Amino acid sequence: MHTNSTIELSREALKNNIAFLRKTFDKKTILSSVVKGNAYGHGLSEFVQMANDCGITHFSVFDVEEAKIVYNTLQDKVTVMVLGLVSDEDMEWVVNHNIEFFVFDKNRLNKAIKVAKSSNIKAKIHIEIETGMNRTGFDKKELPSVVSILKKEGGHLVLKGLCTHYAGAESIANYYRIDKQIKRFDEAYQYMCANDLKPEIKHSACSAASMMFPETRMDLVRIGIMQFGLWPSPEVFVNYLNSKKSKIDPLQRVISWKSKIMNIKTVQAGEFIGYGTSFLAERKMIIAVVPIGYSHGYSRSLSNQGRVIINGTRCVVVGSVNMNMMTVDITDVGPVKKEDEVILIGKQGDTAVSVASFSDLSNQLNYELLTRISKTIPRKTKQ
Ligand SMILES: *Cc1c(COP(=O)(O)O)cnc(C)c1O
Repeated sequence: MHTNSTIELSREALKNNIAFLRKTFDKKTILSSVVKGNAYGHGLSEFVQMANDCGITHFSVFDVEEAKIVYNTLQDKVTVMVLGLVSDEDMEWVVNHNIEFFVFDKNRLNKAIKVAKSSNIKAKIHIEIETGMNRTGFDKKELPSVVSILKKEGGHLVLKGLCTHYAGAESIANYYRIDKQIKRFDEAYQYMCANDLKPEIKHSACSAASMMFPETRMDLVRIGIMQFGLWPSPEVFVNYLNSKKSKIDPLQRVISWKSKIMNIKTVQAGEFIGYGTSFLAERKMIIAVVPIGYSHGYSRSLSNQGRVIINGTRCVVVGSVNMNMMTVDITDVGPVKKEDEVILIGKQGDTAVSVASFSDLSNQLNYELLTRISKTIPRKTKQ
């Protein structure tokens, strides 16, 4: 087990974020917690347990490996929906455990029907519509044949939902593209209904769409990033603030990541720090070595840029981030000793390092940064 650092998940923050989301959406709208990518790096099993304690009973995952972790953690107390990959070998497990899943091609539809027939359990499907993202989903011209399969095999299927996904709702620049997608999705829904196939629910919104295009909320919203206390983009946040009198961020960061100082060194002016020549000490400096590197998910692109908090002060990463270590300038932070706390993401006193400031620096999205945090770091939940 990795002991160089710890990740803490705040239940209070999650409760706050869920309350905000529930207040924002219609009471009848189902809140599906999207937990792909190891729950955006938060730790899948730990996170879904905590989210379920906070009242979440619907989870969306990318693939069956993740579905199994959620199922093993919470069994049939919750609904699990696979947004992405279900391979043929996994179909039997999926159908037998009442896992819901997106269907976006006929192979999968036929496989689902075959397995449902042989195990005598109906497959719970969400038909995904291609509306313009051009990734997965049935095209308009495929719909008539899909409809005829659904009608013929209706006895082996539950048409749980009709769904689609938008291509970049977090940016106003994509407004027309998203608007077109919304219209195409509605056409597909009307077509299904006109053929007496009424899905139990329809859904399309991720965090950004749910905030920027309220009409996309429909019967269920698939919320990933915002439940963790982060906005999909600065634009979505600003757009939200513009609609409100109080200019306070209603979300709270769930994750914090801490380590400890491993070594302290004094470096003379004129010396280079770390590998190569990327950082030259221009004065006499004191350096703390922190046992975290890119193998733990602290991106190498944060070399000479990342910020951490030591002794209540923001300190800069100097030199390159190595595989297992990095060096931090502590010349001006006062008395510090080995084993003192280092905050990689989180707060100490009034000083904070947010994921956003951290990822702006490295030009990564919050999403990517979080999901890269190594799975081997222990996750603890705290009140
Ligand atoms: C990841 C994902 C979401 C959630 O996206 P956020 O921006 O994190 O809210 C919703 N729907 C689908 C299909 C996804 O893949």
